[in-house]
Amino acid sequence: MSSHQVIIIGAGIAGAATAWSLKQAGVDDILIIEQEAHAGLHSSSRNAAILRTAIEQPALTQLAIESADFYRNASSSFSAQPLIDEVGLFITAEKDSSARWMPSSPNSSVSEIRAHYPDFTDQDIDVWHFANEGTLDIHGLLQSFLKGQTVRNNCKVDELLFNNDIAAGVRCGDEEIYAQQVVIANGGWANHLCSQTGLNQLFRPHRRHLMVSAPLAQITHDLPVVWATGSNEFYFRPESGGLLISACDHELVDPHYGENIDPNIIDLFAKKTEYWLPSLSHIQPKHLWSGLRTFSPDNNFIVGPDPSINNLYWAAGLAGHGMTCAYAVGQMLSAWMCDKKCTHPSANDLLPQRLVDIPRLASI
Ligand SMILES: Cc1cc2nc3c(=O)[nH]c(=O)nc-3n(C[C@H](O)[C@H](O)[C@H](O)COP(=O)(O)OP(=O)(O)OC[C@H]3O[C@@H](n4cnc5c(N)ncnc54)[C@H](O)[C@@H]3O)c2cc1C
Repeated sequence: MSSHQVIIIGAGIAGAATAWSLKQAGVDDILIIEQEAHAGLHSSSRNAAILRTAIEQPALTQLAIESADFYRNASSSFSAQPLIDEVGLFITAEKDSSARWMPSSPNSSVSEIRAHYPDFTDQDIDVWHFANEGTLDIHGLLQSFLKGQTVRNNCKVDELLFNNDIAAGVRCGDEEIYAQQVVIANGGWANHLCSQTGLNQLFRPHRRHLMVSAPLAQITHDLPVVWATGSNEFYFRPESGGLLISACDHELVDPHYGENIDPNIIDLFAKKTEYWLPSLSHIQPKHLWSGLRTFSPDNNFIVGPDPSINNLYWAAGLAGHGMTCAYAVGQMLSAWMCDKKCTHPSANDLLPQRLVDIPRLASI
């Protein structure tokens, strides 16, 4: 039996960023427990690595902007290499449609995208350009957050331990590990521990696929990211001499199937590529994979104290923006845990308490 100041369940970006922020705040006895042999094996290394701050939920936009500032100005002691490659990001939306949530008026055009990607459609759509955004070094970021932390790998948390209604630790197989505070940061598996907490199995893990094509003559590594929002959502960016593409599929799955490839996905890639990059509709995946994006009922993250169990905290439901927003998530949760309050303007929008009256979802 061992005992710690803090146990964090899950060594993905949510757990890693929380551990880093706690350490900055002076907490030095932290144990991160990870079921896999390595940290970040799931969503945190299976994503598109895009840094994008314009997000539909204003509370998350705020987190993204703060995190991007941190990554951009990170000291060399945090990361020896730059964490952001500011190749630029274009976001598009159908005219007069959906994109009322965008933080500003359109400031670019399809012809600017076509100057980089001549194969891009020449439809009449709204276009925004974010010159200082682009791609994130996701592996560098995870390792920077984890530097100096204790991660216990190959150790699955089976249940939480309590002392009356106070979280007291976790049970992993036959072993009990105690702690003064426990953080649930277990990504797509967040529902598994819900039944012991004040939340009611409300997480929705969704599978999304990504593909990388074989190298293409016209693609160079400094080309921008393009994200087409709306009913035909699609994004792409340069990767390994070819294009990394998402057809933005969004399927509710049991987390165990989040990394299983759907054979029908190839047709969706072809259909959407034909729509957005018509002359590239023939491209085939050289690499193809999928991962989980896990949503709360209102699509805002769940960050803060559990509504009914003392000393239990959540950093979960990071959906499709967890890499971009991780720094701010860690800072917020560290404030809740160390100061028992968080003055961040988005804090209330992300509190688990907001979701207590939501009924349990039908099982997947
Ligand atoms: C296809 C795709 C594209 C994406 N693109 C982007 C993007 O471009 N930009 C962006 O910002 N975000 C993107 N995301 C979202 C981002 O990847 C996630 O928000 C983020 O990785 C979630 O991190 P996490 O730590 O919550 O989850 P994970 O990385 O899944 O970490 C959870 C960890 O908990 C462990 N765990 C689970 N249960 C237990 C247990 N009982 N005991 C011990 N350990 C346990 C798991 O093994 C895992 O390591 C994308 C996601 C996907 C799938």
